[in-house]
Amino acid sequence: MSTTVTTPGETFGSGDYAIHVPSQTVHNIGLMEERRNHLIIASVVTVAGVFLLGFGSVARPAEPQGDLKACPVCAEMIQAAALKCRYCQTDLPESFHAPKDAQAARPPRAPARLTKSQLSDMEQLGITHVDGYFHYSDYVYDSLSQAIIHAKAAQRA
Ligand SMILES: [Zn+2]
Repeated sequence: MSTTVTTPGETFGSGDYAIHVPSQTVHNIGLMEERRNHLIIASVVTVAGVFLLGFGSVARPAEPQGDLKACPVCAEMIQAAALKCRYCQTDLPESFHAPKDAQAARPPRAPARLTKSQLSDMEQLGITHVDGYFHYSDYVYDSLSQAIIHAKAAQRA
């Protein structure tokens, strides 16, 4: 963009006292400011573009394609091998990871001794005690406290 302009030559007056202003090339301040503004806008746009390019190329980690299983608490699909649900942050019971057959194949243990308050908690939460293990929904727990924590979390959700 050219910021110079050529003014036409002019003659003022006539005769001996006539003043001739020759054609000249001058710098046009208005045009210079306009050019400066264009440069500022261009550099801001360039910087923004570089930023966007940078963020765009930050690769999203590919979703692992492992076995997905519904979280027993929030029902979001999560990795079957997860120790903690990434959506609701619930610690998942050991039985969450074990295949269903393995759960069935667990050797029975001696039934736990339960206090009256534990029994009433279990009844309230729908936890059953089978072969020494605690069952809540589709899950099997080694300890009652784990089952209670999980059942409470599931029922709050
Ligand atoms: Zn969850």
